[in-house]
Amino acid sequence: MTCPKCGPADGILDIGYDFDRVRTAWKAKPSAARPLNHWRYEELLPLAPAAVRHDWPVGWTPVLDASRLAKHLGLRQILLKDEGRNPTASFKDRASSVGVAHALQVGAKTIACASTGNAASSLAGHAALAGLPAFIFVPATAPEPKVAQLQVFGATVFAVKASYDAAYDLCSKACGEFGWYNRNCAINPVLVEGKKTAGLEVAEQSANFGGIPDWVAVSVGDGCTIAGIWKGLKQMRELGVIDRLPRLLAAQAEHVKPIDYALQHGKLPPISEGKTIADSIDVHVPRNWRKAVNAIREADGVVVTASDDAILDAMRLAGRHGMFAEPAAAASLAAVISAIGSKTIKPTDRVLVMITGSGLKDTKNAIRAGGQPIGVEASIEAVAAQVEKLNAKRL
Ligand SMILES: *Cc1c(COP(=O)(O)O)cnc(C)c1O
Repeated sequence: MTCPKCGPADGILDIGYDFDRVRTAWKAKPSAARPLNHWRYEELLPLAPAAVRHDWPVGWTPVLDASRLAKHLGLRQILLKDEGRNPTASFKDRASSVGVAHALQVGAKTIACASTGNAASSLAGHAALAGLPAFIFVPATAPEPKVAQLQVFGATVFAVKASYDAAYDLCSKACGEFGWYNRNCAINPVLVEGKKTAGLEVAEQSANFGGIPDWVAVSVGDGCTIAGIWKGLKQMRELGVIDRLPRLLAAQAEHVKPIDYALQHGKLPPISEGKTIADSIDVHVPRNWRKAVNAIREADGVVVTASDDAILDAMRLAGRHGMFAEPAAAASLAAVISAIGSKTIKPTDRVLVMITGSGLKDTKNAIRAGGQPIGVEASIEAVAAQVEKLNAKRL
């Protein structure tokens, strides 16, 4: 999984393809004959044909053209790709499905990962589909809905009394010790290929919305997601599906922004004490920072940070336009709003925002963003009194 020359700290491998063969296979099977899920890209996945699991549909998530939101933000177009509609309600299913299929292909008997929560619940779900035992390391602070998914899917869960970064190291050690298949994207290049399918889809789906957008915005933790999306977009250009590439907007949290530092300094910063409510990107030691930085550089991209308050505002705003996003997913919208303010994004630009996880993944922060309902007695008079109050407020 890692380069024998550079060592595990720096040398994460990348999977290459014989593109002549891919091109022939891609052209041989028309789009309409392909399933409307991420297995439609089977020639661009590192799996044997018999290992592809058409019975586990993932991806081909809807893209919503949020025209009211675009008007509100003063943008030509804003597209929201709803990754919350994946089987376990986050983007991570793209990677887990491919990882578990690969684990079966190589005859693994157990699979493990460390995660802030979504990779874990997604791995647990796919391991359950495969009937494969899963060992999962999450920080003890992971949001309860994500932990609930893990428990119901029947994974063995270690709630590590430390940060995600420490849980990651512990998982790597355990995989070495017990011979478990390591599903961590940051070390296993097979997983990034799964994440890549989001970029492949953006290339195909954007044809329905005026062509490839000027910007693709995505929040960044370990950096595998943004690197994967970029790889997918580039492969679609190589296949001739698109003729140009978008710029990337990498969203990070105001106080957890190691990728921002790495982009400027070419190395990771000392670990900070910073925190964010966006648990999925609360990553201080991004394991795939080189791939992320390379992608952002190649894409003439930018890193934009979002404060917790801006993230809660963005959750509310997305909700008012029909999109329920978890904090890390809303962080990308918050970053877009900030980039419009700083004129990095121009009013004439078309922007696609990856909504990487559902709001149901973190109900505590959803309630913080949305507020509490109005308690009433079960009488029409009680409702009338409240309606009167609301009308008075509006005046
Ligand atoms: C994992 C995750 C991210 C970030 O992906 P990385 O590969 O860690 O950069 C963003 N949003 C959500 C909801 C996630 O679960």
